[in-house]
Amino acid sequence: MPWSLIGAENVTSPLSAMIRGRRLPHALLLTGPRGCGKNTLARDLAAALNCASPLPDGSPCGECLSCNKIIKDIHPDLKTLIPSGRSRQIKMEDIQILRSEMGFRPYEGRMKIFIIREANRLTNDSGNALLKTLEEPPPDSVMVLTSASEAEVMPTILSRCLRLRIPPLSQETILSALAEKRGLTGPDARLLAALSAGALGPALELAPEVVRSGWDALNGILGASSAPARLEKAWQWVKSLSGDEDAVPQALNLMRLWWRETMRLAAAGPAALEGPPPSDAQTIWAARLTPASIETVNRAQARLEDSLSRFVKLELAFENYWLKVLSA
Ligand SMILES: [Zn+2]
Repeated sequence: MPWSLIGAENVTSPLSAMIRGRRLPHALLLTGPRGCGKNTLARDLAAALNCASPLPDGSPCGECLSCNKIIKDIHPDLKTLIPSGRSRQIKMEDIQILRSEMGFRPYEGRMKIFIIREANRLTNDSGNALLKTLEEPPPDSVMVLTSASEAEVMPTILSRCLRLRIPPLSQETILSALAEKRGLTGPDARLLAALSAGALGPALELAPEVVRSGWDALNGILGASSAPARLEKAWQWVKSLSGDEDAVPQALNLMRLWWRETMRLAAAGPAALEGPPPSDAQTIWAARLTPASIETVNRAQARLEDSLSRFVKLELAFENYWLKVLSA
């Protein structure tokens, strides 16, 4: 397996060069949006550093015993820390375990690799404990931290890591991956590609029929002929979301995309759209959007997301949203 990440040579080329020249630093921070492949790259890196017959560019072969153990996540020299608990934090005891593990030589590989996912979820205490390790890294070990952005990672940790940002993929790259890996083309592929916003993970994972039905529901609500019909449809839709934890973030993404595309349609016509061809509802809204109504929509969305993150009741948060938006 050469690097699994596609379209990210600005990240994989320097990594290849550092691995070949044995100049890889003890700590790296990989950033990029959810689904961009940063955790996969961290695992590939662990494989590369222990591979029995790496490829000429330094990437792992994907076939040797060591690579196989890493792929199956049973390699004794690879440890992954993931935020846990209700607060979704990386806790002090997690870092203490990591520090004691670091005291040992690799069990069977050349290097021990510690992946710390969502390094932005370190607490002050666990971050400071990790910092001590970063200041005096043991030999034969590499720490790979990942985070959606650098902004939320402690500056003292940032300054001790080699920082690599995985760039968003172009719409064309995602469309060709969808065609190649899932046999998906046409409007559904365009909808998935637009929704995944430059990250391949969601494009490959989301079920096209589920996404399509959410998109159709939004078109149905926003394109209904009368105000009572719009509210009735909106209400039915909100009811269909309750009780399904995954459905809500997905719905929020679709709503954001629907308005982004409709605003694009208003500003620059159908050629500017990333998603499927415009629906009747989008065409109607694009014709009547004003700066004031755009502001209303954007504020309503921000307020909805804020309410939901504070565990406001789903029905209430969405009712406020639709009342605001449908009168925009
Ligand atoms: Zn290998």
